[in-house]
Amino acid sequence: MQHRLIWFRDDLRIADNAALAAALEGADDSVQCSAVFLTADREWAQFGYGANRLYFTEQALRSLAQSLADLGIRFRVVRCDHFADQVRWIQDYCSQNQVDALYFNHEYQINERRRDHAVKTALEPDVKVLEFHDRILLPPGSVLTGDGRYYSVFSPFKRRWLSVYGESASGPFRTPSPVGPPEPIAQWSPLCESPESSADGLAMSESNAWLALEEFVQNRLTQYEASRNSPAVAGTSRLSPYLARGLLSPRQCIQAAEQAMGRSIQEFSSDAFSWINELIWREFYHHLLVGFPRLSKNKAFKPETEALVWRNDPDEIHAWQSGMTGIPIVDAGMRELAATGWMHNRVRMIVAQFLTKNLLVDWRVGEAHFMRYLWDADLAANNGGWQWSASTGTDAA
Ligand code: FAD
Repeated sequence: MQHRLIWFRDDLRIADNAALAAALEGADDSVQCSAVFLTADREWAQFGYGANRLYFTEQALRSLAQSLADLGIRFRVVRCDHFADQVRWIQDYCSQNQVDALYFNHEYQINERRRDHAVKTALEPDVKVLEFHDRILLPPGSVLTGDGRYYSVFSPFKRRWLSVYGESASGPFRTPSPVGPPEPIAQWSPLCESPESSADGLAMSESNAWLALEEFVQNRLTQYEASRNSPAVAGTSRLSPYLARGLLSPRQCIQAAEQAMGRSIQEFSSDAFSWINELIWREFYHHLLVGFPRLSKNKAFKPETEALVWRNDPDEIHAWQSGMTGIPIVDAGMRELAATGWMHNRVRMIVAQFLTKNLLVDWRVGEAHFMRYLWDADLAANNGGWQWSASTGTDAA
């Protein structure tokens, strides 16, 4: 019997999942499929992952475990400390369980890429390793300048992205059907028992994420451009936590929008296209992680800005973090972040520019604070947003 192992990461969904779809392709009685999610508790603590992110992941894993059990796929969550432990676990599991092929979707941070390289080296040629680009629509390296370099400015990246996407857009992967009788759900010790902020209204399952997407594209997409910059209005999709942890794919977002508008994104009015534009920013920041690995190492995109002398006054940092600066919109945003794990994009830009340009505090202090609280915490977008705000990054004004 052939054994295929699917390794889930920040792609906690069964619909439109490239690695899962490939693993289940042609899976009949002669194929056994199992799946795993591996934590890296100590490594994640060093990266500053907060309780909100871990709690969200835990809830999403519970929902995924049920979906996989229904599909007849045995799923386990394994607690590891470091990426090196993950490599060892995969290696041992594959040899003890006669795994023939390992399937996973790429992660683009430098440590994760090194880990995946180590896994490949340890397994091949005995175990076939099949990797997929699924976190974003166009893989890093597919949108390059005329002389083959990564873009460092958004507008030309977007033009090129649209042209490559137009030539290569493909439909979503088929939602898998059961490969066997339902499996029991294995227990694991929770990643996090309770979040740091209130999770009111945040649905933490794939099916609810899908409903949130449908609600947005049906009711609010056409008003997005007009309302997206007003923090008092629920004008944006609030889908970022689902995209960050992979409960939704960007392909599902674009296709739901196209269905709601009855046309392809190339034919969208500027109102609706403005939302697609944000998804392209998301793509851009992921490409930058690969094109400029220093971004994963806490380094500035513009190396010369490392010479900036930050003030880093501890009292002012504390006032900013606790929403006690005396500037109402800054304090409202920072208190909202602590209470709810959420902040509107416009307010993120305001509090980030206030910290770095008024208080002259190093952007890394703010980036770490956001990483601790945000439900949607994600290195690519968080680092991109902070460095943009601090003018150490791309497109910096
Ligand atoms: P919508 O406006 O509905 O946009 C749709 C989707 O596009 C979002 O869900 C998100 O996935 C993506 N997106 C939107 N804006 C951006 C952007 N500027 N950059 C990259 N992707 C974008 N976003 C995160 O997902 N995680 C973070 O950790 C994060 N940190 C940020 C830090 C700072 C300082 C700043 C200025 C921005 C940050 N952003 C981050 C980007 C942005 O603020 C959020 O993605 C957005 O507020 C999410 O709300 P929404 O889902 O309603 O977005």
